[in-house]
Amino acid sequence: MTTDTVPASNFLRTIIDNDLGSGLYQNRRWAPPPSPAEVRQAGEIDPARIRTRFPPEPNGYLHIGHAKSICLNFGLARDYQGICHLRFDDTNPEKEEDEYVQAIADIVRWLGFDWTQNGTEHRYFASDYFKTLYRFAESLVQAGYAYVDEQSADEMRATRGTLTEPGINSPWRDRPAAESLALLREMRAGRHPDGSMALRARIDMGSPNINLRDPVLYRIRHASHHRTGDAWCIYPMYAWAHPVEDALEGITHSICTLEFEDQRPFYDWILRKLAELGELAEPLPHQHEFARLNLSYVVTSKRKLRQLVEEGHVSGWDDPRMPTLVGLRRRGYTPGAIRLFCERLGVSKSDSRIDYSLLEQALRDDLDPVATRAVAVLDPIRLVLTNFPADRTEMCSAPSNPHDPQSTRREFPLTRELWIERDDFREEPPRKYFRLYPGNLVRLKYGYVVRCTGCVKNAQGEIIEVHAEYLPDTRSGTPGADSVKVKGAITWVSTAHAVPAEIRLYDRLFADPHPDGGDRNFLEALNPDSCRTVRAWLEPGVRAEPGASWQFERLGYFVADRELSSPDHPILNRAATLRDTWA
Ligand code: ATP
Ligand code: MG
Repeated sequence: MTTDTVPASNFLRTIIDNDLGSGLYQNRRWAPPPSPAEVRQAGEIDPARIRTRFPPEPNGYLHIGHAKSICLNFGLARDYQGICHLRFDDTNPEKEEDEYVQAIADIVRWLGFDWTQNGTEHRYFASDYFKTLYRFAESLVQAGYAYVDEQSADEMRATRGTLTEPGINSPWRDRPAAESLALLREMRAGRHPDGSMALRARIDMGSPNINLRDPVLYRIRHASHHRTGDAWCIYPMYAWAHPVEDALEGITHSICTLEFEDQRPFYDWILRKLAELGELAEPLPHQHEFARLNLSYVVTSKRKLRQLVEEGHVSGWDDPRMPTLVGLRRRGYTPGAIRLFCERLGVSKSDSRIDYSLLEQALRDDLDPVATRAVAVLDPIRLVLTNFPADRTEMCSAPSNPHDPQSTRREFPLTRELWIERDDFREEPPRKYFRLYPGNLVRLKYGYVVRCTGCVKNAQGEIIEVHAEYLPDTRSGTPGADSVKVKGAITWVSTAHAVPAEIRLYDRLFADPHPDGGDRNFLEALNPDSCRTVRAWLEPGVRAEPGASWQFERLGYFVADRELSSPDHPILNRAATLRDTWA
């Protein structure tokens, strides 16, 4: 992790420091979840000083917003000799799939994080706690903390009240516990249709916090689950499943995004009640909220990302324009760049929108010190050195990485005919243009100084060839190299030796900085020109093995597409330009 620096302090670190300092989590016991409270109490002292978790719902691929949460949770665990659990929050039967479980685990590992400690994998599934959750629900009912409500979902909504008005008690709220228990068992046994009744916590319909107005704990849903199949037809609601999952796993710091701030009183209520009933071991976890990542020009909602994939606006979840981590990886982003970006974001409690250029800058900063240099010509035009013998080949060389004095040197041939960038020649130079124009002297990088003598045009008046004469004593690395002063240097490749390649130049997927702002359809903000493909020439010696990457001099960072590229048929993605071109 060469790019990671000493972690900056933040409010979460302050909280953890205080919690550890006060001994809040001292003598905490550990037993594999979902061990009952008494088993945990009899367990070993928890070898992890803190426990955090990253709890994705396996209903899609992770995006750059998730990376912020991953870096935060796994980063805190690492820095405090704790452990971060990877927990699949799969309480919602309809949208979840094994494909996503695998993809999520892979990409978290790719980012450089691990959930194994002393040989134990702390990878968990909320669905493994279904039985425990159900047992807890019965316990809550028996204690009078929950009841079965036979109102319809619409009735419940209508009696919930508003921000300014209290809710109205359900007519079923005060039914005997035994009656609720019998109905809960019938619900579980599949005796009732979807939506006919629900289990609700019995808290306070007059609470100013709407989340405390008897929230639903279980709903009936006759649906198959990706792991439990048809074993269940009632599924726990996120709001109560989540705190219980945290407690069963011995999480100390449950870090989530700000939307859940209003849920915290319920989080604490449900855990306290279950601890009182002897179902949960103390100390209980605490929830802390931070601001989610919002990136300009990007949507980070799995639902919208899925829509882009399913409607064919992109080639898949890993399309290099997607803000998914698989998309960024394919685009050429490194784990180090993403970690660096997340570190620079810091953590705060107020929402903001981060400029996309920050992400690109993190990539440049990560790659610049290490990227192998090479030359590519993206918009080629032929340069003929008219005084260079046609049968001559001279080898030139350059450092593979100028920042590393130990780095190897690359060698490439100079010949009479070269590919150069079309934009490196002008018949009529604009002001401050130091590249090729008739009469001007320019250095061919790592080669000779040349004097431009003109160009050749076709019948349509288009320039098809640029002509120049080389100055024999000016070769780079020879005593005469500095005998002629030039203001410009251009890159080139020998036409006889260059490797042909297809290069994809990406632009933002959305043309609007706030694609999902307001109530506009985000698809209308799609940029119609977000991918341009060019036929380019690469320095001989560049082998486009999938995933290989380079800094092409003067152009930017490029990666051989991990799905499509091969050395015989190179297909490259531009990950980022050398400088911010969006400003
Ligand atoms: P989406 O709405 O895209 O489905 P989500 O929050 O529902 O996102 P989850 O799989 O539930 O997706 O998220 C897993 C974790 O990642 C949660 O703890 C969530 O807070 C966090 N997370 C999701 N999006 C962001 C974001 N933009 N910035 C920071 N953390 C995020
Ligand atoms: Mg979610």
